[in-house]
Amino acid sequence: MIPQTTIIGSYPLFPNRGKIMQNYFHHYTCDSWKPLIQQVIDDLNTARIDILSDGQTRDPFVQLFARKLKGCRLRNRVEIIDDIGYTKPITVDDQRYIQSFIPQEKQLKGVITGPYTLAKSCIDLYYHDEQEVAFSFAHALRKEVEEMQSSVDILGIDEPFFSVSFPEYARDLIGILTHNISLPTLLHVCGNVSSVVSKIFDLPVDTLSHEFKARPDLFDVLQDFSFPQSLCIGCVRSDDTRIEPVQEITSHIQNALDLFGEKIQYLSPDCGQRSLPRDVAYHKLDNLVQAKEALNG
Ligand SMILES: [Zn+2]
Repeated sequence: MIPQTTIIGSYPLFPNRGKIMQNYFHHYTCDSWKPLIQQVIDDLNTARIDILSDGQTRDPFVQLFARKLKGCRLRNRVEIIDDIGYTKPITVDDQRYIQSFIPQEKQLKGVITGPYTLAKSCIDLYYHDEQEVAFSFAHALRKEVEEMQSSVDILGIDEPFFSVSFPEYARDLIGILTHNISLPTLLHVCGNVSSVVSKIFDLPVDTLSHEFKARPDLFDVLQDFSFPQSLCIGCVRSDDTRIEPVQEITSHIQNALDLFGEKIQYLSPDCGQRSLPRDVAYHKLDNLVQAKEALNG
C-alpha cells in the first residue's frame, strides 16, 4: 500500500488575514468564499496532494463550528449561553462546492473540530459542567458528520486537547461521532501524546495522526505497543518556517516505513499550517509530495 498525502486542518490563504476577516464580518455571504476555497484547492492540486481538504478558510477551527451551532455566542472567546444544538450544516456546503469542480476520482477529507477541544476552548456560562458541554457538542457534531457522509470521502476529527488533558470519557465521546459512520475516520492529536498513546489506541477511529516531525521520539514510544489503527505521519513541521529538503523528508518517511510498514496510510504536515506564510506552506507540501514520489520511484 502506498501512503497518500493530505493536509491537517488549516491552510494559510491570506497574506493579510486580518483585513479579510474584517470584511467577512461585515459582508458575509456563502458565495463570497468560493474563490478563496478554490485557491486552497488550486494550491493543493498544484502540489499534487492526494486527498484534498477545504483548508478552513472561513474561520479559526473553534469559531468555524461555534458560529453555526445553537447555544454559542462569539465574543473574544466563544461563550456557551444555552443548550448546544445543531441547526444547519456547517462545512457541508463548502464540501459540496469543492466536489462540484474537482475531478470525480479525487478524494476529499472533511474535518471537524472535536467535541472535547470545543469544550476546552469555550467559556461555559450555562452547563457549568465540562463533560456535559463535551457531550452536547458531540451530539450536535454527530448531525454534521451524518450530513458529511454524502459529500466527503474521509472524516477527520481534530482533538489537540487530548494531549493536554485526556478525559476518561474520551472513548464514548469519539464513539458518538464515529459509530456506524460509513466514512474512514482519522483522529488528529498534536502536542506531546507520549503519556496518553495507550488511551488513544482505545478510541474508535481508523487512523491516528500525530506530529512525528516535531517529535520523532514518538516513533520509539509507539513501537512499544501493538494497536489497531493505521497511522498518518506528520512529515514537515507546522510551527517552523524552515522548508525541509526533499531528502530529509524522504529519510523521515523511510524511517516510519521501516518501523510501521503497512500501518502507514497517510503522510501530512504535523498540524494545520495556518501560522505559516502561504508560500512556505505550499513548498512544504510540494517537497512532501516529491519525497513520497522519490520513495515510490
Ligand atoms: Zn494539530
